[in-house]
Amino acid sequence: MTEIDMEARQWMMQKFKDAGLTTHMDGAGNVCGRLGDPDKPAILIGSHLDSVPAGGMFDGTLGVVAGLECIRVIQENNIDVNCPIEIIGTSEEEGRFGGMLGAQALSGNLTLEWLESARDPKGEYLKDALEKCGLNVHDTLRARRDPSSMKAFLELHIEQGPVLENSNKCIGVVDGISGVFKWLVKLKGKADHAGTAPMDMRSDAFMGLADFAHEISRIIDEEGTDKSRITIGRVDLKPGYAHTIPGEAHFTIVGRDMQEDVMHQLANSCRKVLSSIARKHKLYFEYEQMSWLEPKHFSPEVVDLIEEEVKALDYSYMKMPSGAGHDIQFFTDLTPTGLIFIPSVGGVSHAPDEWSHWDDVEKGTQVLLNTLLRLAQ
Ligand SMILES: [Zn+2]
Repeated sequence: MTEIDMEARQWMMQKFKDAGLTTHMDGAGNVCGRLGDPDKPAILIGSHLDSVPAGGMFDGTLGVVAGLECIRVIQENNIDVNCPIEIIGTSEEEGRFGGMLGAQALSGNLTLEWLESARDPKGEYLKDALEKCGLNVHDTLRARRDPSSMKAFLELHIEQGPVLENSNKCIGVVDGISGVFKWLVKLKGKADHAGTAPMDMRSDAFMGLADFAHEISRIIDEEGTDKSRITIGRVDLKPGYAHTIPGEAHFTIVGRDMQEDVMHQLANSCRKVLSSIARKHKLYFEYEQMSWLEPKHFSPEVVDLIEEEVKALDYSYMKMPSGAGHDIQFFTDLTPTGLIFIPSVGGVSHAPDEWSHWDDVEKGTQVLLNTLLRLAQ
């Protein structure tokens, strides 16, 4: 939601117009280009146009540009489609203000309170950023689409991970998005002189954290699945001096799985292990659950349809979950959904050297087109 971002949106809208689509930008900054009847339920093809700072050129934008290409192919070949098709370039998927503004606005997952209070890490209010771009919170709420106006939602995206490349597959048929929980954990012991406190008379919070880190693979072996992930992504030791025993360790735990009951098992196990480690090191343990997002599953009919089309094209593929969130996750309860991945070279994303081979881009777009045409019949 910046001036440059708006320039890119205007550019995209012009491309929609050039293709003869009916275009508009909604109150959340989503740019929409529609082929066909304005009132009938449409197949939506969406992904995001925003990027992280110093991000790559495929993340998000691929899905929007590929959607436009599908429309061009339909037009050039005079293919009859029985329903309208709408391409949507969403806004703020990367979560500068938390959440995914554009997709949440379209799916009706926003509140006025949140819109008025959301700020970016530098403290800029979302409502101010919207106003600088000629938008406002009330119009953002009005961007909601009625579920009855949607026939399906499809997204093509880069994998942003190494699995497809390492497995030598060119298409990922994604069956769902992992659920995620995030904890803020505090282990509290006693800050002390690193020279005078004997090793057996310490309450060293970092030692507790280190012990826990070593238990993660066992927790996953015993309670998790091959889709489980547990990550300690941020650590803060207090007081944080080289010559002082850390009296407190504050850290995050982010856990993921495709099944919610597995997420509960992982969370329970983390809690038990942390309590017993805290006892061993004479620490006090507390945690706060910052968020719990349930796993999202795409429609089996659409997933099967994508798989059939990939097979018919004779492309190599695998079924896989997505460990990252995407715009489409807000539509799973509203309309049939399907997500297609193509490989990321070296698994790199959110970096300037993010890349996908043009051959894979073409294949991904072909799968998107064929799936779209099947759904439109
Ligand atoms: Zn993305």
